[in-house]
Amino acid sequence: MQNIQIQDSRPYSKILENPRVDSGFELPLMESFYTIQGEGAHRGKAAYFIRVGGCPVGCVWCDVKDSWEVKNHPITHIDKMVQEAVKTSGRIAVVTGGEPAAFEMGPLTGALKEAGFRTHIETSGVFDLSGEWDWVCFSPKKFKKPTEDIYIQAHELKVVIYNKSDFDWAVNHASKVNPDCKLYLQPEWSKSKEMMPLIVEFIKDHPEWEISLQIHKYMEIP
Ligand code: SF4
Repeated sequence: MQNIQIQDSRPYSKILENPRVDSGFELPLMESFYTIQGEGAHRGKAAYFIRVGGCPVGCVWCDVKDSWEVKNHPITHIDKMVQEAVKTSGRIAVVTGGEPAAFEMGPLTGALKEAGFRTHIETSGVFDLSGEWDWVCFSPKKFKKPTEDIYIQAHELKVVIYNKSDFDWAVNHASKVNPDCKLYLQPEWSKSKEMMPLIVEFIKDHPEWEISLQIHKYMEIP
């Protein structure tokens, strides 16, 4: 068994009181499914999604509010997750949430890599990242401040545009990431019609940014 150091920033340790969750060998699993990545730099690629339950960030427009309550999701051994993932043909695993960085991710990413997967995470960046990641998608949220380290770790900055003030906010985050970090603006789904023309004009003026559409929603797949 790996010796995992438990970080103070793990918010669910006291709620779940489960040392196997603390060490990352078991995790609350909301759902897992094989689909097409709909967002960001890897959109259009087949990927196995592992959605970890539990999120304390509280975005008003969150489209997976059912993920928030950590106790609603069955505690599942990571071996079981990987056993399901290897049944698919794809070899990209996207760990999302909820907020997966709220948990120790070393064992899961280790097991996924051993099984031949590229490991991708989608995170709000509010907790220290653990585990070994081939791709870090950092999507900051106004509702909780991200850590400073996530700016160095991010391969992709994805900012959800909900209202006009979000453009300045996006530029502020972009000034802190690595120069090779990819920059995406993504219209919040319910505000898409309203925000799309503004995003188009912004990107025409700031070509370092790209648009990320949630193409899985247009395709009506999970
Ligand atoms: Fe929802 Fe993600 Fe925000 Fe958590 S960080 S509330 S899962 S959008």
